[in-house]
Amino acid sequence: MAPTDVRLIVLTHGHWDHIGRVAEMKKLTGAPLAMHYSERDRIEKPLKVMPPGATMWGKVFGAFLNAAVVPSVHLEAATVDVEIGDQGMSLQTYGINGKVIHTPGHSPGSLTILLASGDALVGDVAMNLFPLRFGPGLPIFAEDVSLLKGSIEHLLSLGATTIHPAHGAAFSAAVLKKAVARL
Ligand SMILES: [Zn+2]
Ligand SMILES: [Zn+2]
Repeated sequence: MAPTDVRLIVLTHGHWDHIGRVAEMKKLTGAPLAMHYSERDRIEKPLKVMPPGATMWGKVFGAFLNAAVVPSVHLEAATVDVEIGDQGMSLQTYGINGKVIHTPGHSPGSLTILLASGDALVGDVAMNLFPLRFGPGLPIFAEDVSLLKGSIEHLLSLGATTIHPAHGAAFSAAVLKKAVARL
């Protein structure tokens, strides 16, 4: 597959660790950039947004990142070409049997790509990578935990079976189901 085969770039959300190279990706692929409307400032200005900790470890690790990592991060601005609304968007026109779903909570405009196979590319709606987490589960950072809970329940009700987090390996949706029940 060549870079120019890419027909759409979807930003799951606008946190600093997810957007820094998207301007370069746009140049390489020539593909339009899609993002939820509520976060377009984060890439177009761009803004370095660090979400608050949702757990004690999230607060500690977030403070470390804010002090030691975030100041040296360079973000290049890029223009959003396809603005995604709260109702999401089908990916059929891009040749993908799936849809983009608005799953706010980790950030206000977090998006999940849910394929007909049940595979869910969730961005940071879930995490599974040390030192964020020791195993699969909820994100340790969230801008709104109650919205996050509703989004995960929504995602599970739509038939997500395998969760593909941005940080770490894929895992069963059953893990998230248990975790969200404890929230
Ligand atoms: Zn994030
Ligand atoms: Zn992240």
